[in-house]
Amino acid sequence: MAKRETKAELKERVEKVLNALDQEYGTEYICYLNHETPWQLLIAVILSAQCTDARVNMVTVDLFQKYKSPKDFAEADLRELEKDIHSLGFYHMKAKNIISCCQDLMSRFGGNVPDTMEELLSLAGVGRKTANVILGNIYDQPSIVVDTHVKRISKKLGFAKSEDPEKIEYELMKVLPKEHWILWNIQIITLGRSICVARSPKCVECFLRELCPSAQIQPS
Ligand code: SF4
Repeated sequence: MAKRETKAELKERVEKVLNALDQEYGTEYICYLNHETPWQLLIAVILSAQCTDARVNMVTVDLFQKYKSPKDFAEADLRELEKDIHSLGFYHMKAKNIISCCQDLMSRFGGNVPDTMEELLSLAGVGRKTANVILGNIYDQPSIVVDTHVKRISKKLGFAKSEDPEKIEYELMKVLPKEHWILWNIQIITLGRSICVARSPKCVECFLRELCPSAQIQPS
């Protein structure tokens, strides 16, 4: 059985992983969902549930031309909005949530997107993942977004054990330094889309293979 990693060893490995990620992918904050305003990002994140960012970006080009403010979404016709976002899946729930969320924004926040976790979670259709995207990308507040890539790869790296995204978020908060919380999601998405892909991770070409307890490297 493999020897259990001490806290000091884990800390050292985390630092090495973060340095390798910074070197490979840089430290620029990138948001994969196109938006020009905080409320547009909020809607784009709601639309991105069970759907790729690329597909959301295709739909929001026209959507944000048609609905130009939270007020427009708050007053939208449910059936019409469902048609507008039909191609993204779960369109009934997403349309309902977007209308309710924007009604909340208009009635309680003057049409602005709030900047605290508590207030964001009080909006219809907004869970921790969405709230963390807003806090990190819009308000530059340290936050860890746990999406499918972060969940899978954080576990592979031995930085999280849980299956539950909220628990993983707290596990990562303990392991990662605060200044790297926002970047973790950005860099891990890039790794997850290109190298540590869900179906067959390309461990042989992965720059983290020496640091990853899940690396599968076949002898040649
Ligand atoms: S070594 Fe393999 S399992 Fe580990 S992060 Fe890289 S691709 Fe993923």
